[in-house]
Amino acid sequence: IIFSDIGYSIRSYTGQRRILHNISGEFYSGELSCILGPSGAGKSTLLNILSGLTNGFDGCINVNGYERDMRSFKKLSCYIMQDDLLQPRLTALESMQIAADLKLGTNFNKADKEIIVTEVLQCLGLWQHRHTKCEQLSGGQCKRLSIALELVNNPPVIFLDEPTTGLDIVSTRQIVVLLRLLSRQGRTIICTAHQPSASLFALFDNAYIVSNGSCCYQGSTALLVPF
Ligand code: ADP
Ligand code: ADP
Repeated sequence: IIFSDIGYSIRSYTGQRRILHNISGEFYSGELSCILGPSGAGKSTLLNILSGLTNGFDGCINVNGYERDMRSFKKLSCYIMQDDLLQPRLTALESMQIAADLKLGTNFNKADKEIIVTEVLQCLGLWQHRHTKCEQLSGGQCKRLSIALELVNNPPVIFLDEPTTGLDIVSTRQIVVLLRLLSRQGRTIICTAHQPSASLFALFDNAYIVSNGSCCYQGSTALLVPF
């Protein structure tokens, strides 16, 4: 995914306000990237534009060498919101079965869907919690289940809005390690975050630091001194 000169303005009764200024960059498969910056910097707006949730921006986005076509991009990608939209009364397994039915439809038979559901739950460390109701899962388990629900149809591109906000240090690390693992299987993963701790920085391949709607750093996290 290559994006160039992404800009975004909002219009209100107080006039026009520029929220993003000419941000460019690229994401490749196998890489875990994060968009960092303080609250209000424009991280979510950029993520929403890149993922296709927000329209009406300036600049262009190319996917696999072609100008992004939303119809095919929607099939290729998934978006995981900051708030987990789980059904409190359903168990993790039931939630996964519903997601598999919705996303895989009739392309897969029941036995194949069960295999996929089992594999994803095991990969995300949720198998032992499969009979737990969502309302009884911890914050980190909820986030992992939200990711699991999107993985049933194996999208190569994953966007996540603040996947670690509100989680404790241990769960945060688990999520970032998991995202790194998923990226190493060949996926393109892009998430936003406020301020990851120093020890987590190294797990990301690339960082885009956004401040006041502009990108003030982009590149390898190896050179980044945590702020
Ligand atoms: P986060 O950065 O945690 O994803 P949000 O994107 O929900 O947070 O909101 C960030 C800021 O943008 C907040 O200060 C919020 O008030 C403002 N904001 C978000 N959406 C709107 C909206 N539709 N109208 C007005 N302000 C908004
Ligand atoms: P971040 O995710 O870094 O917290 P956002 O992208 O949510 O930042 O917001 C960037 C800026 O744009 C904020 O100042 C926010 O108040 C403003 N903003 C975002 N969406 C809207 C909206 N729909 N209407 C008005 N203001 C918005």
